[in-house]
Amino acid sequence: MSKRDYYEVLGIEKSASKEEIKKAYRKLARKYHPDVNKEADAADKFKEVKEAYEVLSDEGKRTQYDQFGHANPNAGGFGGFGGGEDFGGFGDIFDMFFGGGGRRRDPNAPQAGADLQYSMVLDFEEAIFGKETDIKIPREENCDTCHGSGAKPGTDVDTCSHCHGSGQLNQEQNTPFGKVVNRRVCHYCGGKGKMIKDKCNTCGGAGKVKKNKKIHLTIPAGIDEGQQIRVAGKGEPGVNGGPSGDLFVVIQIRDHDFFERDGDNIHCELPINFTQAALGDEVEVPTVHGKVKLKVPAGTQTGKMFRLKGKGAPNVRGRGQGDQLIRVRIVTPTSLSDRQKDLLREFNELRGNEATDEQDSSLFKRFKKAFRNND
Ligand SMILES: [Zn+2]
Ligand SMILES: [Zn+2]
Repeated sequence: MSKRDYYEVLGIEKSASKEEIKKAYRKLARKYHPDVNKEADAADKFKEVKEAYEVLSDEGKRTQYDQFGHANPNAGGFGGFGGGEDFGGFGDIFDMFFGGGGRRRDPNAPQAGADLQYSMVLDFEEAIFGKETDIKIPREENCDTCHGSGAKPGTDVDTCSHCHGSGQLNQEQNTPFGKVVNRRVCHYCGGKGKMIKDKCNTCGGAGKVKKNKKIHLTIPAGIDEGQQIRVAGKGEPGVNGGPSGDLFVVIQIRDHDFFERDGDNIHCELPINFTQAALGDEVEVPTVHGKVKLKVPAGTQTGKMFRLKGKGAPNVRGRGQGDQLIRVRIVTPTSLSDRQKDLLREFNELRGNEATDEQDSSLFKRFKKAFRNND
């Protein structure tokens, strides 16, 4: 079954603002919420709406989606969020509808890990053809020895006796205006709500260690400068069993000596000498896909563009293939032998008395007119 476009699901324009996205989502979430809507497909519709909102309301995921659509080789599509039959995200929605804000954060509640960003520099050809590669990302990982608890294996982790596990302490202060209660992070447990008697030797009680994590990455063919690849779940690990963050790989592409990228098209300049330009020739042109023979017709001018169909970069979303665009530049010879000079003088004398094509051309006409205006 093909997935519907997220913008279509929410019934909004591609240019929709954050506010518009939120508004559309609220409206549809209310309409399809399974507690309200008893139609058979309400739950599916609700899930679809929720998924679309989760992606489009997150700037990173939205950029990613705009670039790659549902096809992202590293994220396994966008379907993974809160998948299955669970409606785990309901709490958030009710907060949104009924103003559940100001909820105190429970230090023992699962927290999502941070997203990580990594920049990757690719060679020109690598970006065009894509590649499989392994990268090493330094990131925090749960300590293997204590499995993230921070306590020596076999020892207990106690609930903090000062804050009773809440991670916060209430502090009463008497002021001229009356009694003020301050809520502060518990300094006995550092806000964790837990006390570790015997700290793990490996991580010193932090529960986490820095590690270079090897991650396999598929760079899709046709990726372009500045595009991001999201690798779901490869960011920092979550806390208290929360989900891991995502890894965003930002692509940079090295300049090429000869080619220049413009979206899916590749541009280059082809130097030819003036006899080739005047008489016509068949020249070999390099492309990223190998050499191609190009017919330069007689009388070709500098700036003339030729298009080699399909010799550009593949579209990263799988929509066809770009072209190579070749701009001709005629190179004037700088070192001539005496014999060549003689021949050119002879050529010029022969040309002198003729009404030539180029003298009829509009550029020459404008050129002559400029002289007249100078008089
Ligand atoms: Zn440890
Ligand atoms: Zn405490």
